[in-house]
Amino acid sequence: MPQEKKQNRKSESSSHKKRRQQQVRRQLILIATIAVVVIAITGTIIVKTVSGKKTESEASSKKVTAVNLDEADTTEGTKENEEETKPEEVTDDRAGYAVSPGVSVGSDTETEEKVVYLTFDDGPSSNTQAVLDILDRYNAKATFFVTNINPDYANMIKVAYDKGHTIGLHTYSHDYGAVYASVDAYFSDLDAIGQLVQQQIGYVPCFIRFPGGSSNTVSAEYSSGIMSTLVQEVQNRGYQYYDWNSSSGDGAVRSTAELIDQGTAWDGNNLVFLSHDANSKESTVDALPTIIEHYQSMGYAFKALDRSSYDAHHGVNN
Ligand SMILES: [Zn+2]
Repeated sequence: MPQEKKQNRKSESSSHKKRRQQQVRRQLILIATIAVVVIAITGTIIVKTVSGKKTESEASSKKVTAVNLDEADTTEGTKENEEETKPEEVTDDRAGYAVSPGVSVGSDTETEEKVVYLTFDDGPSSNTQAVLDILDRYNAKATFFVTNINPDYANMIKVAYDKGHTIGLHTYSHDYGAVYASVDAYFSDLDAIGQLVQQQIGYVPCFIRFPGGSSNTVSAEYSSGIMSTLVQEVQNRGYQYYDWNSSSGDGAVRSTAELIDQGTAWDGNNLVFLSHDANSKESTVDALPTIIEHYQSMGYAFKALDRSSYDAHHGVNN
């Protein structure tokens, strides 16, 4: 019996020893694993920190070089930042369209390029949005010679401008008797529409269209010879006037079919195309897609007037 006990104790102690050894082995493996993981993480952090510091120092040395050697690089960086913060802003030079006495505007000769300069007089109106939607659909740019006939739509001047169309001055009142009463009366009306447009787009544009065009004879009823004076005087003051060499005939009451018929009949290189953006001119809106499609299929581009565009002057009759 004591012999047995002794043996049992012996085997007990040997299995206890084995278990201990296993425990120690497990602990060692655990410690080794933790050590490997810790080393790996630490290593990664160190590598990252070092390479990060390297990039930073490279960048700052580049910055110093740019500042010291090349101002243009710095400007470019600033421009990029501006684009990032204001992505919706149109980046163009249309502030150069501001009236500037002594700086001539317009060209009296056509270019070889096939261009339609669509122009819309008498707006903005209840039809302006529809016209803008059609122009967008065909990626066409145009020019709006605006008035104060519908003050409720004045905000559409800015809407059209922000889409890349040119804004020109037509007249504030569109009352021939008042506008052509005298040279002073004309310029006081022109100043009023200029101020309205400035409120919308930030400057007074240099592009104008006379009510009735420079060839009108109506003005003779109010002031003999006034157009001969005005065509010269507006240019002296830094403006240019634009007449037209093509039209759908929408100044009169016409059906959509008649507007398309006349509107697609032109074939010059630079078509300064008269049309109207007035509350009553729904047929102009209806005819517009077909007219645009016609000229685009003939290879014409639809552009907004700029300072170098053909001005299509008429002969003066008063
Ligand atoms: Zn008009």
